[in-house]
Amino acid sequence: MSREDLVDLDNPTWWISLSAGRSMGSDYVMLNRAQAEEYNKDPNAYAARHAGVSKHDYLDWLENGPFVRCLANTKSGKRCRHGDACMGGVKDWVEMQGNYFCFVHREGT
Ligand SMILES: [Zn+2]
Repeated sequence: MSREDLVDLDNPTWWISLSAGRSMGSDYVMLNRAQAEEYNKDPNAYAARHAGVSKHDYLDWLENGPFVRCLANTKSGKRCRHGDACMGGVKDWVEMQGNYFCFVHREGT
């Protein structure tokens, strides 16, 4: 975590990106000082709470989103590599990731 991730306590505004690819759909959030202090303690946990997902899921999304990977295993026992991009926000991604099968595995599983 770099210093730039932290909010200036004297000017507590916060840019958040909660959509696919983090390149679109940012929100501009005004924080009060208490919220800014809370945010600075753990930016990812705060962002996760704001988005309504767990910190684990939020970090997972930062790393892997917007790509959603098929949950099925192939015959060789490896995780299927097919997937799709989730164009919604992090919450949509978490829901989609928990229940996604590609066109190959969607039927008859
Ligand atoms: Zn699959």
